[in-house]
Amino acid sequence: MGESLGADWARAWIIASAEVLADNRVALITLDREIGDGDHGENMDRGFQAALIRLDDLPDTATPGDVFKVVATTLISTVGGAAGPLYGTAFLKASLAVGAAERLDGPALVLALTAARDGIVLRGKAESGDKTMIDAWTPAVDAAAAAVEAGASPHDVLRAAADAAERGAEATEPLVARKGRASYLGERAIGHRDPGAQSSALLLRAAEQVAGAAS
Ligand code: ADP
Ligand code: MG
Repeated sequence: MGESLGADWARAWIIASAEVLADNRVALITLDREIGDGDHGENMDRGFQAALIRLDDLPDTATPGDVFKVVATTLISTVGGAAGPLYGTAFLKASLAVGAAERLDGPALVLALTAARDGIVLRGKAESGDKTMIDAWTPAVDAAAAAVEAGASPHDVLRAAADAAERGAEATEPLVARKGRASYLGERAIGHRDPGAQSSALLLRAAEQVAGAAS
């Protein structure tokens, strides 16, 4: 059990994500109000609540990839703004990366995280340091890969990813934005954390926490 994570983990991750995004709805709105249009908390809360409902329609035989795919299509169809298509693409690419596997070990988790990050880049063309969610995802992917190299368990791989994503989100604060709405602000974006980097860190922490509960 400790060496791989199955659909029970994937479902628990989405449930925990919906919960943490509901809890952080106002905080994410506040961040987005500072350097965007104030809708990020609302967008994410609505998208994951919708995903929760669609999760119930999945058969008991659903794989982690099936869970990711339902989340992807739900986010793409229900979440407006930049974040919906970006997170939707991330979950879609993660779904394709894990294929029909019933359980995910550390290397499979790294493949999924890498595919998710690459999907966001493909869609949004952001580079590291542009003050976007990529500044959480790329350190997370790198830390997860390093953890696998060191022989870490899936839970520890996800913990490394979440720790790095949190540091990455914090590190967006001094940056000027070069993508998305915040880029219109120029130097006025300095001193504010990127909302998408923050929501990414919350999602990855939720993935880690439910892996700890599952193993
Ligand atoms: P919108 O900007 O359309 O209001 P949201 O507020 O939901 O959408 O999401 C904003 C977040 O989306 C930003 O904080 C940033 O992390 C992310 N984002 C915006 N544009 C890009 C991009 N081109 N690449 C990666 N992430 C982006
Ligand atoms: Mg916004």
